Amino acid sequence: MVSRSTVDSIILRKSFGTVKNIVPVPNLIEVQSKSFNDFVQLDYLPSERLVMGLEKALRDVFPIEHSDKLSLEFVSYELGNWACTCGLLTGITNRYTWECTRCDKRDCSRLQDGQKCTGCDKKTARYIQCPSCHSRVGIKVPLSVQECRDGEETYAFPLKVKIQLIAWDIDDQGVRHVHDIKEQNVYFADVPVMVDLYEQDGQYFVGNQGTFIINGVDRVVVSQLHRSPGAVFSKSKKNKDLRGKPYYLARIIPMRGSWIDFEFDTNDCLYVRIDKKKKVLVTTFLQAMGTNRQDILPLFYASNMVYIQDGDLYKKVDETLIGQRLEQSMLPEEHSAKFAGRRVTSTLLSELLKLKINRLVVHDGALFNKVLRSDFIDQQTGELLIEQGTTLNETHCATIKQQKNGFVDLVDLQGYIFQPTMALTLTHDRCFSQDEALHDLHAKIWPGDSASLIEVKERLERQFFSNRYYDLTRVGRIRLNSKLGLHIDETQTALTYEDILGTIRYIIALRERGVGELDDIDHLGNRRVRLVGELLSNQIYTGLARMERIAKERFRMQEVQSALMPQDFLNVKPLSAILREFFWVRSIISIHGSNESFG
Ligand SMILES: [Zn+2]
Ligand SMILES: [Zn+2]
Repeated sequence: MVSRSTVDSIILRKSFGTVKNIVPVPNLIEVQSKSFNDFVQLDYLPSERLVMGLEKALRDVFPIEHSDKLSLEFVSYELGNWACTCGLLTGITNRYTWECTRCDKRDCSRLQDGQKCTGCDKKTARYIQCPSCHSRVGIKVPLSVQECRDGEETYAFPLKVKIQLIAWDIDDQGVRHVHDIKEQNVYFADVPVMVDLYEQDGQYFVGNQGTFIINGVDRVVVSQLHRSPGAVFSKSKKNKDLRGKPYYLARIIPMRGSWIDFEFDTNDCLYVRIDKKKKVLVTTFLQAMGTNRQDILPLFYASNMVYIQDGDLYKKVDETLIGQRLEQSMLPEEHSAKFAGRRVTSTLLSELLKLKINRLVVHDGALFNKVLRSDFIDQQTGELLIEQGTTLNETHCATIKQQKNGFVDLVDLQGYIFQPTMALTLTHDRCFSQDEALHDLHAKIWPGDSASLIEVKERLERQFFSNRYYDLTRVGRIRLNSKLGLHIDETQTALTYEDILGTIRYIIALRERGVGELDDIDHLGNRRVRLVGELLSNQIYTGLARMERIAKERFRMQEVQSALMPQDFLNVKPLSAILREFFWVRSIISIHGSNESFG
């Protein structure tokens, strides 16, 4: 934080620094002011607004639905009183309605390029004026800055939101049709606005001074330095394995939403912890999200296939062999001298095939201590003989050799020095279906509330994969993509299944092969400043979530809704309460009159 002071101009500062300032100090008021303007998007038509700030929060929270039959939908919002001088014309749409004096076209849009008419292409379009007072619609400030200071008032603009209450009919095919729409402008709250209002190129902006006036007092919202959204990998400070090597940790940090931590226990099993609550095995977490138990190991490890024929084991000579070293015992005697000890390349592969060597003998000991990638099944009876994830011992090897034919799907160990993490974790996982996994998750992470498995499943999806509850921000998405080597669209700011797989792959690569880079969480590059718009957004989400809860209760209580309007379902008190609290707790008093500002 930097303070500017009036004494700068008279005191000469001697710099003892050896490094020249190459980056100019940013105008911190401007940064805050831009953040706030982006949050409110004050003087824009609803159709022009980008999905950010207030617009994004409202779009994420609505629609609020009740049993497929009723929903409250967000249409648009208007901040501030927009009217002509006499008050006859109101609303931001009247501000941007224009008529062409030449071709009589009338439309509502922002005129470009010297008021060019979109009908005749001539610069003859004019925004409409009030027939009574001859002024264009502009913003009317309820109280001036000075009036607020003198009267201990808050400099705020009313927020009105256009909401539709839609009743739906569901036809025989289960398709929804609109039965009835009731639209209403609902007053939501008085939103404190940065002083002062100014006009630039015919458009209103706020926040030139970066301060708010709350109950007559000038206040500044303090930015916070926080961890950048994305995935962070580090070493555990307390947890060490048998060899004294520290375990790795991973954390996915959103801007808004639940934290997910990945950590090992002292048995080398990998766990997930949501919001620092009780941990669940990572394989249970994957199953709860709908991953088939059988599919888990193949998601993380390549396959090393060994085939069985009348008790003999062999490998097929194909591309999967590339990179492996040929041993004498694998080859037919007449060729062993030529190939033994050589590493398989594509040239060597074709040489082998030319000599009609299409299988390699696998000797008995080769299965010992290897890990099963899929269940080992009796090909005749379909009986499960050895469970996937098992590390094969002598008894297992004997069972395998008793089979007439079939295959053994092994985890391709690629020289791992210990057991593959996911296989080990899977053998500790006693959940064998999505329902069992959801049940485990519910018991450990959200205990207490009696929810059905469907509700737990919805909750899980909502919590990480919906914009409503989870936001990485664009910055977080870009950082996550680059860290995990993903190519997910930058507009996808909620988490995806791929992000979770990618994070697990990264932490096991660190653990098993030492591949990957750790992050220094204290490094400033991994931190960023949360500006006023972002802080306010978080408050708005909390306020709207409370409104949503009340709306759902009211939906449930009133079964005959024919006479009701959107307003009847919306209790706006929580939103104003949260805004009031935010500006009292988060902001600090600034000394009005001195040129002191806080970034
Ligand atoms: Zn008027
Ligand atoms: Zn025209």
